[in-house]
Amino acid sequence: MGRPNAGKSTLVNTLVGRKVAIVSPRPQTTRNRIQGILNRDDAQIVLIDTPGIHQPHNVLSRQMMDEAQHALEGVDVLSLIVDASAEFGAGDQFSLEWVRRFHGPIFLLLNKVDRVRKQFLLPVIERYAGLYDFAEVFPISALTGEGCPALVDAWLARLPESPPYFPPDQFTDQPERFLAAELIREKAILATREEVPHAIAVLVDSFEEKKELVKIRATLYVEREGQKGILIGKGGETMKKIGTQARKDIESILGAHIFLELFVKVQPNWRQNSVLVRQLDWHRQLEQLAGE
Ligand code: GDP
Ligand code: MG
Repeated sequence: MGRPNAGKSTLVNTLVGRKVAIVSPRPQTTRNRIQGILNRDDAQIVLIDTPGIHQPHNVLSRQMMDEAQHALEGVDVLSLIVDASAEFGAGDQFSLEWVRRFHGPIFLLLNKVDRVRKQFLLPVIERYAGLYDFAEVFPISALTGEGCPALVDAWLARLPESPPYFPPDQFTDQPERFLAAELIREKAILATREEVPHAIAVLVDSFEEKKELVKIRATLYVEREGQKGILIGKGGETMKKIGTQARKDIESILGAHIFLELFVKVQPNWRQNSVLVRQLDWHRQLEQLAGE
């Protein structure tokens, strides 16, 4: 867990060895809790990526914080990830208060050390140590993998013995259609700026597995006509780029040929619309399907 942009999703991807969670330089990219599964010959670690800890300000962000709250249930170790290259601020204080409610070992991960000179790390460690009695502290780089093997060993030392939860070839708990929607959203975030990335939601309308390929139809929702125009771009250029990049990523992750069809719709204020926000919660969608 940690503030938006601390590097949570990057760390999960690095440790799992493939992309299970989308990453962007914009805060609040992750909207659901996602499990990434690290499989080794001698162990399996289930990593739970979460939305960044922040003060909720609309229906969507309240749901994101509910997701973070859910993630605390039944975990053996909580790891608080902080950006060691950034100044300590109110958001760090807030996320520290937030994780304190966890009754178990809390690790402190000082991330992005590839950007920090060693002599600046010590004061950061001291500051945090004065605020909470962390079980362990690890300087790491989620990007380069520096410090990660020692972290994994320390996690393993705290995990109970148990049969594996997942088959050894499974790397995430997300259904394929959700992963596809996320990859489309990632490309759309990367292709746009300012308020547009936060206003994008992607829903897969159909996901058909044919003999030779998977046919995916998805709709990108934005909140305003202007945002729709930005997403589509001059002569449809931006949309075309998003589609091509997303298709390539989905193909490499699902290991299948993909036929991707994308639509853009305006849904004014969808982040305040609990019906649409609920549709983005795939845990809830799956429960509903199972109950039908
Ligand atoms: P999250 O919001 O906590 O999930 O953060 P992300 O994983 O989406 O990362 C946010 C940004 O920080 C992205 O641009 C990442 O590439 C970058 N980032 C994450 N970890 C590191 C790191 O160890 N070093 C550096 N230099 N950048 C990182
Ligand atoms: Mg994230």
